Amino acid sequence: DVLHIETSNKTYPVYVGQNAIALLPDFLKENNAFGSSILIITDESVGHLYLQTLKDTLSDIEKEVYVSIVPSGEKAKTFDVYYSCLTRALEFNLNRKSLILALGGGAVGDLAGFVAATYMRGIPFIQIPTTILAHDSAVGGKVAINHEAGKNMIGAFHQPEAVFYDLNFLATLPLHEVRSGFAEIIKEALIEDPDFYSWLTTNIHSMDLIDMDQLAFAIKKGIAVKGGIVKQDEMENGVRAYLNFGHTLGHAIENSVGYGSITHGEGVMIGMVFALKLSIKYAGLNFDLTSFINWVTSLGYKTKIPSSLKAEQLIYAMKKDKKTTGREITFVLLAEEGKPITKTMADDEIITEIELMFENKS
Ligand code: NAD
Ligand code: ZN
Repeated sequence: DVLHIETSNKTYPVYVGQNAIALLPDFLKENNAFGSSILIITDESVGHLYLQTLKDTLSDIEKEVYVSIVPSGEKAKTFDVYYSCLTRALEFNLNRKSLILALGGGAVGDLAGFVAATYMRGIPFIQIPTTILAHDSAVGGKVAINHEAGKNMIGAFHQPEAVFYDLNFLATLPLHEVRSGFAEIIKEALIEDPDFYSWLTTNIHSMDLIDMDQLAFAIKKGIAVKGGIVKQDEMENGVRAYLNFGHTLGHAIENSVGYGSITHGEGVMIGMVFALKLSIKYAGLNFDLTSFINWVTSLGYKTKIPSSLKAEQLIYAMKKDKKTTGREITFVLLAEEGKPITKTMADDEIITEIELMFENKS
C-alpha cells in the first residue's frame, strides 16, 4: 500500500506494509538522481535487530553502503552524536547526491534527517521507521536534535524522498513503546477523523492484542491525517499546530520527569485528557470523558499527572516550550470531535485546572 505526502516542492510516497522494505531497491534504481553512496544511520538496538536485514535488501544495488550506529533513544539527538555522523559522512566522502537512510524510531529519524538537512547544505534521505510513533515523526519533514536547554531546539524542515514503513519491524517493539506510538494515533483520530475515532474505541481493547490488519489500518489512517495537515501547512504557521493536541502539557510532563521515565506518547495521553477536560469546560465539546478515561486506562495509559511534579513547574516548562508564543500558554482544544481550535489561557486558570489532574487527587 502506498500513500502520498504532498508538500510545496515535492510529493513523496509512503509505503506501508509487511515487508515494505522489499520495495526499496527498485525505488533506488528508478531514481537515478541518487549518487553512488549511501549512509545508513541507525541506533544500537535497532541496528542489532534489523541492520543486517536492510543490508541484505541493498545487496544487489550498485552503491557503496556505509553505516553509522548511534546510541538508542533520546541520546541519539545530541550535538555530539550529530557531529560524529557528519564526521562519518565526510570520512566516507559522501557528496550532495549521496543518500541517508534513517533506520529506527523517531529519535533516529530526527537525527538522521537533521544530518541530511545540513550536510553540504542538504542531501536526500529516506525514512525507514521502526516504531509506531515514527508513523508520525517520519512524515512531515520536521527534523531536529536537542539542546540542553530544550528538546528539538536545533532543527530544520527537510522532507524525505520516501518513507518505507515495514510493519514486520514492529514485532519486537516493547509494550510501552507501542503505547507511546498509539497515543499519537488516538490523537490523530480525535483532531481530524471522528469515524476513525469510533473505530478505535470499538476495535482496540488491549495493546498486546492488536493484530497486523488492525495495526496497518490504524497506522495508514494516522499517516493520512498527518499528511493532510502537512499538505495544508508544511511550515507550521497555522493548522499544523493542531497536531500538538495534548502536547502542551504532555511535553511539560515528559521534560519535567526527566527523559526516559515516561514515553512521549504516555505524556501526551495525560495532556490529551487535560485538553479534553478544558475542551468540555471552555470550548463546548460534547464528549464522554469518563468512558475515554476508562478506555485508555484499560489500554495501560496513565491519565493523571505524576505526584512528583508541581503545577508551577509545569507552567514554567510549558512557557519554555518553543511552541508557545509570548508569555501566555496556548492549548489546542476541541470544539467538536474532529474540530480543533486554539485557546490561550491565563496562568492562574491553568494552575487551578492542573491541580485537579494529580495522581493523588480524585
Ligand atoms: P526512539 O527512536 O527513541 O525509539 C524508542 C526506543 O525503541 C529506542 O530505544 C529504540 O532503540 C527502540 N526501538 C526502535 N524500534 C524498535 C523495534 N522495532 N524493536 C525494538 N526496539 C525498537 O523513539 P520514538 O518513540 O520512535 O520517537 C520519539 C522521538 O520522535 C522523540 O525524539 C520525538 O521528539 C520525536 N518526534 C518527532 C516528530 C517529528 O515530527 N519530527 C514527531 C513526534 C516525535
Ligand atoms: Zn507527539
